[in-house]
Amino acid sequence: MPRRQAWRSCLTGVLLAAATSGMLVGCAAVRQTLGTALVTPAVENQLGLRVAAQVEKQERVLPNPELQAYVGRVAAPLAARARLDRPDAVFAVTVLDQPGQANAFAVPGGHLYVYTGLLLLATDEAELAGVLAHEMGHVVARHSANQLAAQYGLELIASMALGENPSEVARTAANLGQAGVMARFSRDDELQADRLAVGYLADTGYDPNALASLFGALLRQESGARTTPLEQLLASHPATGDRIRRLQAQTAGKGGARRREQFVAATAVLRR
Ligand SMILES: [Zn+2]
Repeated sequence: MPRRQAWRSCLTGVLLAAATSGMLVGCAAVRQTLGTALVTPAVENQLGLRVAAQVEKQERVLPNPELQAYVGRVAAPLAARARLDRPDAVFAVTVLDQPGQANAFAVPGGHLYVYTGLLLLATDEAELAGVLAHEMGHVVARHSANQLAAQYGLELIASMALGENPSEVARTAANLGQAGVMARFSRDDELQADRLAVGYLADTGYDPNALASLFGALLRQESGARTTPLEQLLASHPATGDRIRRLQAQTAGKGGARRREQFVAATAVLRR
């Protein structure tokens, strides 16, 4: 049986099993978790490799091996911790050169991208670790599998993963860099990634308060920037403040490394 056909018949079987076992309780609830149930990690990882290749074609990878290596060293212990929760994830991180873009994102399967704008906004290594841990949390919980399944449908995902639909892969790659680091997924998904990130920071010795402090800096930057009324509305939405308060409640009384000096020295080249 050809690969795609096999995948489809498998999918039909799973859907039938889900329908007969009463799993299909509500359309919205199913859409929320459909990807995790039906997009296999192998398909997600394969799609992720294609999206990553496209991101690196569309964006400028920072031509600074020392800074790339530094960010990789910050990511390594967090990735080792996150892999305990999702052993098939292949974490890697690449710095993209766009000083005006204070953003980071993960492609399906685990490749992370951080813009130089985020390195310029962060004040210490713990804040960088916080945003990496948050993106790893999305990968571990397979939020992009859910989002892609709801957005594209399973057949299109399969064809994208098999390389049959390069234009949609390009569109996905372009969209990833656009949404803000705090609000790419649903509120529940963001809160889950925040919770996972706090745990990863604490387990690797970083101050878990760093995620809330970075989000605070992002908010201040957004509200100070010249934005459209809609963007202002979104940036000042109480949900964001609520998220920071939730983070602060989770990390109250906890501490850890911030590594400000190391971070400032490693990123000095961007501030010249
Ligand atoms: Zn997020």
